[in-house]
Amino acid sequence: MTNILIIYTGGTIGMITDPETGTLMPFNFEQITDNVPELKRLDYKLTVHSFDPLIDSSNMDPEIWIGIAGLIEKEYDKYDGFVVLHGSDTMAFTASALSFMLENLQKPVVLTGSQLPINEIRTDAKENMITALQIAAAKHNGESIVPEVCIYFDYQLFRGNRTIKYNSTNFDAFRTPNYPKLAEAGVYLKFNHKAIRTPGQVPLKVHSNMNRAIAILKLYPGMGCQVVEAVLTSDCEAIIMETFGSGNTSTKPWFIGLLRKAINAGKIILDISQCKVGSVELGRYQTSKELKDMGVVSGYDMSFEAAVTKLMFLLGSGNSKEEIVNLLETDLRGELSKQ
Ligand code: ASP
Repeated sequence: MTNILIIYTGGTIGMITDPETGTLMPFNFEQITDNVPELKRLDYKLTVHSFDPLIDSSNMDPEIWIGIAGLIEKEYDKYDGFVVLHGSDTMAFTASALSFMLENLQKPVVLTGSQLPINEIRTDAKENMITALQIAAAKHNGESIVPEVCIYFDYQLFRGNRTIKYNSTNFDAFRTPNYPKLAEAGVYLKFNHKAIRTPGQVPLKVHSNMNRAIAILKLYPGMGCQVVEAVLTSDCEAIIMETFGSGNTSTKPWFIGLLRKAINAGKIILDISQCKVGSVELGRYQTSKELKDMGVVSGYDMSFEAAVTKLMFLLGSGNSKEEIVNLLETDLRGELSKQ
């Protein structure tokens, strides 16, 4: 019999309305099972691990990622797949983080949740949860069909570290603008086998050291020198610089000077684009040539979520700065592509 571990972290899927305040708050797992009698009709053995406390995912934290990764490591041999029930707000961050933390994954880790609580008549939770379980269980010749960390939402399966939360009100909350869908669920579950990673036969290696010493510099025209300086000189080891278009920035001497100073002080500057589609191409324009020359690192087509979690993972890996820079520009888990 197929064994699936459901890891319940919180999120709208299991929320109920607080009678006193009228706000949505996470509730226990029985709230979910009571509303999905179909779960009993699945031919799988389902085991549930609920996190305590259950959270709205806006309170997500690297400590909880470490908890989820550790649980998967501990239970890895016992289960055919894992379904993580999670709020949609930071689901893309958790999926990205887990993809880096779970090296050589050979089993599915499917994150899902919903936009409406499971006890609402028009809820999207039931379909999301049932199909996520079926994807976690899906095998071909005894091997998992999707041995990846992925997100299933609104009839679509996505690579986790390529997702962004795109829509806060519609049921199709997620997109992967720079990568094809891994599957679509209609009458049939149609897997896009070409887009799914093929694992090696190497044992799972779990990384559980996430270093949060990062800062974000999101550029906009008119940004002041003091703001840029405050971010670049803050107590961090790396800065994600969200740039214009294909990785471009102002060429004003004070701005370039501050970047150079941060790099000379040993900080890593990772360039990702504010555009959701396309890639950073350092050196394509004169406005990014100098960045390349001074050692700014290209994030290629990585999402913000992948950039944040990849940096935390690499800064916590014990690698040298040179190795980290090299690995940032390397595709580790399908999170980036180079033309
Ligand atoms: N605020 C909720 C959360 O992320 C939203 C959701 O679950 O969709 O936990």
